[in-house]
Amino acid sequence: MRMSKLYMPTIKEDPTNADVISNKLLVRAGMVRQLVSGVYSYMPLGNRVLKNVERIVREEQDAAGFQEVLMSALQPRELWEQSGRWADFGPEMFKLEDRKGREFCLGPTHEEYFTNFIKNELNSYKQLPLIIYQIQNKYRDERRPRAGLIRGREFLMKDAYNFDADEEGMIKSYELVWDSYVKIFDRLGFDYKVVQGDSGNMGGKVSHEFIAITSGGEAQIAYCKNCDFAATDEVAECITDEYNETGDKLEIEKVSTPNVKTIQELNEYFDLPKKKFVKTLLYKTEEEVIAVMIPGDRELNLVKFSKFLNVHPDSIEMLEEHEINKLTGSYLGFVGPFGLKESVRLIADSRVKSMNNFIVGANEIDYHLKNANISDDFECEIANDLLNARVGDICPSCGEKIDINTGIEVGNIFQLGTKYSTALDATYLDKNGKAQHFWMGSHGIGVSRIIAALVEQNHDDRGIIWPLCVAPYKAIVTVVNSKNQEMTDLGNEIYETLKNKGVEVLIDDRKERAGVKFSEMDLIGIPLRIVVGRKANEKIVEYSTRKDMEKEEITSNEAIERVLKALE
Ligand code: ATP
Ligand code: MG
Repeated sequence: MRMSKLYMPTIKEDPTNADVISNKLLVRAGMVRQLVSGVYSYMPLGNRVLKNVERIVREEQDAAGFQEVLMSALQPRELWEQSGRWADFGPEMFKLEDRKGREFCLGPTHEEYFTNFIKNELNSYKQLPLIIYQIQNKYRDERRPRAGLIRGREFLMKDAYNFDADEEGMIKSYELVWDSYVKIFDRLGFDYKVVQGDSGNMGGKVSHEFIAITSGGEAQIAYCKNCDFAATDEVAECITDEYNETGDKLEIEKVSTPNVKTIQELNEYFDLPKKKFVKTLLYKTEEEVIAVMIPGDRELNLVKFSKFLNVHPDSIEMLEEHEINKLTGSYLGFVGPFGLKESVRLIADSRVKSMNNFIVGANEIDYHLKNANISDDFECEIANDLLNARVGDICPSCGEKIDINTGIEVGNIFQLGTKYSTALDATYLDKNGKAQHFWMGSHGIGVSRIIAALVEQNHDDRGIIWPLCVAPYKAIVTVVNSKNQEMTDLGNEIYETLKNKGVEVLIDDRKERAGVKFSEMDLIGIPLRIVVGRKANEKIVEYSTRKDMEKEEITSNEAIERVLKALE
C-alpha cells in the first residue's frame, strides 16, 4: 500500500479523553476513533489489526475442531426471561422495542440464544459433543466505559459454547477450549497468566480467566510463586494471621481527634500502625443501608461483599456525605459502629473480630473511640472474608506467601453445568431414548480488547511495537526524500519486489519531511523497516526492526532477504 493513498489520520498530541497508553497510541496512530463513550470506529490500519487478531483466534478454534456460526445480535426478551437474566443483567443490557412493542436486547452474551438454538436443532446423543463459536459484536452498557477498547460498550467477542452429554464430557470440552486458548495467547505473544475466576452471573462453578499482565490493568490477580495457585482478586481468599491479637481488653475511651480523618492521619496522630484502626464504610443497596468494618490497612473487596449480601455488585453504592451525616450525625472520617441507627445493618470482616482494643470513629465530629472490641462492646454480623488479598498474605494452596499483579482479562472460560439447558429445557435423547439436559460451557475472548492489551504490552515512548502476527503491515519502506529520483526508484523497486513475494508492505512515498515520516513510522509500529536515503545510488539502505531499532546499512537485496526471512 502506498502511504500517499493510505487513509491514516495521525494526531500529534495525545487525545485529552484517553486514559490509558494503548488508547492514546491507537488514536494518535490513526487506527481507531471514538464515536461516543465506549463506541469505537476502526480505520484502515486498526481494522487490519482487528482482522489479524480475529484470524488467529479463528484458525486456532477451527484447528481444535470447533465450528464457526453467526447468530444475531438482536435477541428477544422471552429468551432472557427463561433464564432470569433479563432482570439479572440490569442496566448493563441495551434494551429496545420493535414497532409493535415487542422487546429485544442487543446481546451482551449468547448463552440463552445458543441453548435455544441447539434445543430446536439437535436431539440425539450421537451428535454430541458439539462446540460452536462465533466472532461477533457484543453490547453492554458498562457502568464505566473506559480505557478505549479495553472496556467498550460495543466490542468484538469470540464466544464459544459446548454441548455435552454429561459432566465428564463438559470437562473434556473445557480442557479442549483451554488448550486452544493457550495456543492463541501464545501465538499473540502475550505475557499472561491463567487464573481461577469468579463465575459472576454466568452460573456454574468452575471458571478460569486469561489475564494479560500489564501494570495499569483493571484486573488484580493473586498468585503464588511456590505452587500453581493463581486467582482473580474476586475469588482469591485473603488469609492472614496479622490481626490475631490477644491480651486484656481495655475500657473504651473517647478521644479528641480534631480534623484527623484518614487512616494515614490517624496513624500519625496516634503514632500507631494502621492495622490498629478499623474503617467503618457505609453502603446502600436497594433494600438496606450497611455499615461494614474492616482493618484500617485493608481494602474492601466489592465482589466478596456483594456475594455476602447476595446482590449484584453494581447495585451497591457508597453513601453520600449528606446521607452519612443524616445517619450518624458526623462525617466521613469519624464514622464508627457505635450508636448507628437500628436500621443500619452492621457487618464486620472476621479479622476485626480477632483484633484487640482497636480505634474507631465515634460518630461525632472530631472524635474517635479507643479500645473497641467486638462482642464485648457491640454485636455485629461476621463475614468470613471481605478483604482484597495483598502481597504477603498466605497462599490458600501451599501456605507460602502470595504475590499480586495487575492485568487485563483477555479470555474467560466457564463450566455452566445444566443451568441454561434446565432453564430453557434443552434436552437430547440418550442411548435409552431418555431426555437429558445438555451439559454446557461458555468461553469468551475479547477480540477487540486484545488489540489494546497488545499495545499495553508492546510499546515504547515513540509508539506502538506490533508483534509480527497482528501488525497491519509487516514491512515499511520509507523513502527519505520523495523528490529525489534515485531514492524513489530504489524504494519502489524494493516495494514492488516485496509485494510480488506476497509481503504486506507499506511504502512511505508521501511528500512529507523526513522527520514526520520517521516519527510516524515509529508511532504506527510496523515491525520490519527499510529506509531508503542518501546511499540509494549505491543501492545501500538502512534496515531495522521496530522492536530493537538498531540500524544496519546493507544492500537493498539483503534487506529484502531479511524481511522474507523474518516472515518465514
Ligand atoms: P470484565 O470482568 O472485564 O467485565 P466479563 O467477565 O464481563 O469481563 P465476559 O462476559 O467473560 O467478560 O466476556 C468475555 C470476554 O470479553 C472477556 O474476557 C473480555 O476479554 C471481553 N470483554 C468483556 N467485556 C468487555 C468490554 N466491555 N469491552 C471489551 N471487551 C470486553
Ligand atoms: Mg463485565
